[in-house]
Amino acid sequence: MSNLALEIKNLSKTYPGNIEALKNIDLSVSAGDFYALLGPNGAGKSTAIGIISSLVTKTSGSVEILGIDIDTNHSKAKRKLGVVGQEVNFNQFETVYQVLTHQAGYYGMSPKDIKKNTDYYLQRLGLWDKRNEQGRNLSGGMKRRLMVAKALVNNPDLLILDEPTAGVDIELRRSLWEFLQEINENGTTIILTTHYLEEAEKLCKNISIIDHGQIVRTSSMRSLLQELESEIYVFELTASHEKIVNSENLEFQKINDTTFSVKIDKVNNLNKVLTYFSQNNIKIQSMTNETNRLEELFLSLTK
Ligand code: ADP
Repeated sequence: MSNLALEIKNLSKTYPGNIEALKNIDLSVSAGDFYALLGPNGAGKSTAIGIISSLVTKTSGSVEILGIDIDTNHSKAKRKLGVVGQEVNFNQFETVYQVLTHQAGYYGMSPKDIKKNTDYYLQRLGLWDKRNEQGRNLSGGMKRRLMVAKALVNNPDLLILDEPTAGVDIELRRSLWEFLQEINENGTTIILTTHYLEEAEKLCKNISIIDHGQIVRTSSMRSLLQELESEIYVFELTASHEKIVNSENLEFQKINDTTFSVKIDKVNNLNKVLTYFSQNNIKIQSMTNETNRLEELFLSLTK
């Protein structure tokens, strides 16, 4: 049994017209993780999700869900997966209740489990009072919640949400975040795509940043945020120095004999560097703040 909820290897997708939406991406998501796929519009996020959920045919590469290959064992892989896309994906003329029971029936669940899960998710997502309404009569926020309930009704191990809170009001966003955290704590692996850093930061343990069809960074959320909070300062000194001794967590990088850089973060503030220079009789000619490359990347990703 694999301890990976999702394993993608060398995945590529070229759409007609030679549009390379995914260029050989690798992605591994551990069981139990809460994972963000962050990237700007057009990065390839929906294409990746479309391939995982067998709505888009891949050009090359492999995808395994809980160790099950989506090509060789399609229906078994599909049972492990729930997907919440961006477009309404239920029959709007069915009642809310029917949408869930039909979906559960499609997975071959017993009538008892169908009723149990349908009742549970309708109540949990605040749709119980609307159970006899046709889907088309629901508000946008309720439609979104019904899509989440539909994706979960067969208790999948892996839940993937494509931009779950795009265009939803703040209240729904918060309640959806709480709900997702709860089901993740109860063991469901969750992957979401977003172009809001804030959303990834709030929810996710690990993150991959995707841009122009390539994964440009994979990291834990915590270490990525630490990096975002640090800045690099470059000091031009009045005299040449062979090296500057690294001390007290200050790690000086030599650029040339009179130029050194140092990372400033929560532990190392600028004062500490200036005090160190003064105590060691190192004189500064000028100082510049070299913008963090990652921060630049984020600015370009999130604008
Ligand atoms: P994201 O979800 O990150 O916004 P997409 O996966 O939707 O990115 O798109 C990735 C790239 O593939 C974009 O350049 C987009 O225009 C292109 N693309 C997406 N779907 C199609 C399609 N059906 N036909 C042709 N090109 C497409």
